[in-house]
Amino acid sequence: MRRATLRPDLAVLTMAGLLEARPRVGYFYSGKTPYMLIAEEIRHLKVIEVKSVPVVVMEDVSVYDAIVALFTEDVGTLFIVNSDGYLEGAVSRKDLLKVALGRGDLHKIPVQVVMTRVPNIVTVSGEESVYEAAGKLVEHEVDALPVVEVLAEDGDTERLKVIGRFTKTTVARIFVEMGEGR
Ligand code: ADP
Repeated sequence: MRRATLRPDLAVLTMAGLLEARPRVGYFYSGKTPYMLIAEEIRHLKVIEVKSVPVVVMEDVSVYDAIVALFTEDVGTLFIVNSDGYLEGAVSRKDLLKVALGRGDLHKIPVQVVMTRVPNIVTVSGEESVYEAAGKLVEHEVDALPVVEVLAEDGDTERLKVIGRFTKTTVARIFVEMGEGR
């Protein structure tokens, strides 16, 4: 193969990180396997770069309205905030299904009765890597994490502002983008 035909291939391998190019030395193998490069990428990529817009409802919203929000916002988990906008909890599809199977009036039961509460909510900060965030989804067996900023320490309790959401769908999207070489 002629040098000129080889060059674009070498450029692709350099971009992929498999080869390195140095003036006067030329091309040489970087020593990194494709798996090492993927590992590097997911450990470097930060949650803040991939997070979605959070869907939040107030703690006094009824279970009925929370179910409506699940449909209209097309999400599986709602984050619950208080009147100051701080994270109070989360409700999942099954939390809402469970209460919907009961005999209570869904218009009268506030969502805070059925939510999982802070401090039992697993959160992630924007500065954490997508690798760490995905690890939390797996370890805690949940579908979604609120991306939070710790605003102020009020005694022992942290106040958490919800700035995004990181979900299993986020992970699937990153996976597809990597598969496409992006
Ligand atoms: P589903 O219950 O619809 O399968 P999940 O697996 O995400 O959805 O939720 C399981 C339980 O964990 C629910 O009771 C829910 O309130 C709670 N939960 C959801 N998100 C979190 C989170 N980020 N941290 C802690 N608990 C959560």
